Amino acid sequence: MLILNLYRVKLLGISFFILLSACVVNNSQNPPTPEEIDDFLIKAYKREFNLNITHPAFVYPSQNKRYTSTAYYENELYRIYVNDEGKTSSQISTPFLPKGDITVLTIFVNYANLNLEDIKDTLWPEAQASINRDHEEWADQLGLEAPIVKFENINLLIDEGRITEPSTSNLRAVASENKYSSNDYDIIAFIDLNQNEPSGGFAVRKNNWVKMGWFYNIDEDKVLTAEKLRGIAYGVYHHEIGHLFGWDHEWSDAKEGDLFITHPKLFGWEDINNNGIIEIFDDSPYGIR
Ligand SMILES: [Zn+2]
Repeated sequence: MLILNLYRVKLLGISFFILLSACVVNNSQNPPTPEEIDDFLIKAYKREFNLNITHPAFVYPSQNKRYTSTAYYENELYRIYVNDEGKTSSQISTPFLPKGDITVLTIFVNYANLNLEDIKDTLWPEAQASINRDHEEWADQLGLEAPIVKFENINLLIDEGRITEPSTSNLRAVASENKYSSNDYDIIAFIDLNQNEPSGGFAVRKNNWVKMGWFYNIDEDKVLTAEKLRGIAYGVYHHEIGHLFGWDHEWSDAKEGDLFITHPKLFGWEDINNNGIIEIFDDSPYGIR
């Protein structure tokens, strides 16, 4: 069964919209106990996807009352939910893989009152660096020598009115006008901080670009501080680019103080089968046979 849902979700004070398609296979079974969930998921991966996983990655976010399990394997992302009635829902997608050096071309709309000419080269790169520090901190926690994900950034400004409705073609055209070919970047982030029309963000998965608006409350100070830019960077790199990595809002919510938007094991950023290789880098992830 193919279901299309338009989700509107508020997270960290930001409204986000995302269109999800999910292939739902509802086969009610006895709900697994915590002792049975490993085995339950192993069987579900075999049944739904014909994958022989031995060490499934999963979390049980208590706010959702549902297990979420993911497996990145050979460029695909396999996802299984198991609810408290034992119903499973499964999905396959082809995400932008969350690993390695990723170059993001950010395109800011130049609003004169925001001082972006200066901020583009000062406070914004600092906010971008804070995202890479989040990934370095995770690598440190795991004892890795290098972060799993590292963002390289190219930052551009465009005149107000140059792009009113972003599209894959008009964003690529702006890149091209600035002498950047599609080989020079992996992802485009269009950042339109129009304070007269506050909005959240969205991600366009197939074409690897994201959009971020001015999502701060109307009564907030309209000056771009380091703190606000950190919030915008979090929205772009952890949230919207997280969607390009395959994350959906309902996987599990970030809590205050969490490094990432969801549990890192769901992005393949842990060594689940204890063979010394993080799953996203493992040719036989999750003990697959
Ligand atoms: Zn979102």
